[in-house]
Amino acid sequence: MLKRTNYLTKVYGLPNGWQLPAYEREVRGYETARRVLTTMTPEQVVTEAKKANIRGRGGAGFPMGVKWSFMKPHPTKPAYLVLNADEGEPGTHKDRTIMELNPHAVVEGCIIACYAIGAHVAYIYVRDELHLSKERLWSAIKEAKAKGYLGPRPFGKEYAVDVVVHTGAGAYICGEETSLLNSLEGRRGEPRLKPPFPAQAGAFGCPTTVNNLETIAAVPSAFMVGCEEFSKLSAIHHLNDGGVRLFGVNGHVKNPGVFECAVGVTLRELIYDLGGGIQGDKPLFAVIPGGSSTPVLRAEEVVNAPDEKSPLHPWHGKSVLDVPLGVDTFRGLGTMLGTCCATVMAEGTDPIAAFHNLMQFYRHESCGQCTPCREGSGWLFRIAEKLLEGTCSMEELNELHDIANNIMGNTICAFGEGTAMPALGFLKKFRKEFEAYVRGERSGKHARLTAVPL
Ligand code: NAD
Ligand code: SF4
Repeated sequence: MLKRTNYLTKVYGLPNGWQLPAYEREVRGYETARRVLTTMTPEQVVTEAKKANIRGRGGAGFPMGVKWSFMKPHPTKPAYLVLNADEGEPGTHKDRTIMELNPHAVVEGCIIACYAIGAHVAYIYVRDELHLSKERLWSAIKEAKAKGYLGPRPFGKEYAVDVVVHTGAGAYICGEETSLLNSLEGRRGEPRLKPPFPAQAGAFGCPTTVNNLETIAAVPSAFMVGCEEFSKLSAIHHLNDGGVRLFGVNGHVKNPGVFECAVGVTLRELIYDLGGGIQGDKPLFAVIPGGSSTPVLRAEEVVNAPDEKSPLHPWHGKSVLDVPLGVDTFRGLGTMLGTCCATVMAEGTDPIAAFHNLMQFYRHESCGQCTPCREGSGWLFRIAEKLLEGTCSMEELNELHDIANNIMGNTICAFGEGTAMPALGFLKKFRKEFEAYVRGERSGKHARLTAVPL
């Protein structure tokens, strides 16, 4: 169900909409943080936050309030809030819009979240290339400090809060939370084994909550309308996926962009109503629903969920394009919601070229710590190269399954699965096209021309 909202995006596009006067005038900016800090205890804030049912907006969908509740005061160590704004997932471009167009929502969200989890410092780890994002965040922090919203006594409350922007290290893997923490500490950006989770040992070995930037930017809106009410804004709230969020669409659509809507938009609505339909009015071929790590869906796929207990049962027999985009609904489809930014491929796109494009990316970005990921991603890419060159045998094609399956579950971080799952997805959905390459019926020359830009 398509319901456009503007909690987060009301100031987008207004003249100087990213500055404090617009934020205060248009959305009663910082009133919520003031109320929360002066009338609620941290425990009440966490209890309330759970009712918002905000599933993490970075891609994994972990419930925000539950994550906050993992934070326990330590007798000697400080606590930290860390915002992951190392937005690097191919096809994902939503956090950047918040930083550039509504940075005060991020700062206000940091104040509320710090108070809830017992932190006095929030680090925002911003992808290196996003220069305007950093500038806008710095300027918002400066404005908030000048007003006393950040500092030793925000809104007169004896609870110091500071927000620090940290420039990322220019690697996709630094968006993985433990790699990000290493990078923040000045170490090499390589993932750590979990457990311990960041709430036990995070930044500088201290209790830490790592949240995606959009997750924290949604907090002021949730507390302004009331967390329970915010959750009910979602069209699929019975599935514990609350509120409103940013939906992105890119690839072969007429109107690529980022749109704020109540949770529950379908892919059909995202592509045709928000994205304006397919370029050249071509038929839809396939969609990567939420960033490159989420397995691809073919346009003609139909939901198979005869079991009444399945969260997908209400859509049994319907097109996958008509399933609301939610964490649990998309897991049921054998893919993932991910970052909720869909990459659209029109009829005529060569799936093997798209596969090659993806495997090139993952081979390049693997940090190399784990053998299955380091060697597996290289091997997958080499087979993709051979497919395009027309030198891949059927035996090698069959090896793709084994290589990808041997990465799954055998690595330190989720990057391994993020490589293997889309590879297996392409193989499963486009087996005929893969075989056509092996038989020499399709050629790489054509493919390189029609690859969707990821
Ligand atoms: P994850 O499922 O391992 O963890 C999700 C979050 O929940 C983490 O913060 C983790 O610490 C916490 N968590 C999970 N289990 C926990 C437990 N038992 N106790 C305490 N905390 C727990 O996933 P992840 O590795 O953080 O993220 C993978 C996702 O990131 C992928 O699905 C992909 O879509 C997405 N991604 C996004 C981007 C981007 O640019 N936004 C880039 C790369 C990947
Ligand atoms: Fe590095 Fe890949 Fe291992 Fe993650 S899975 S730690 S990216 S080698």
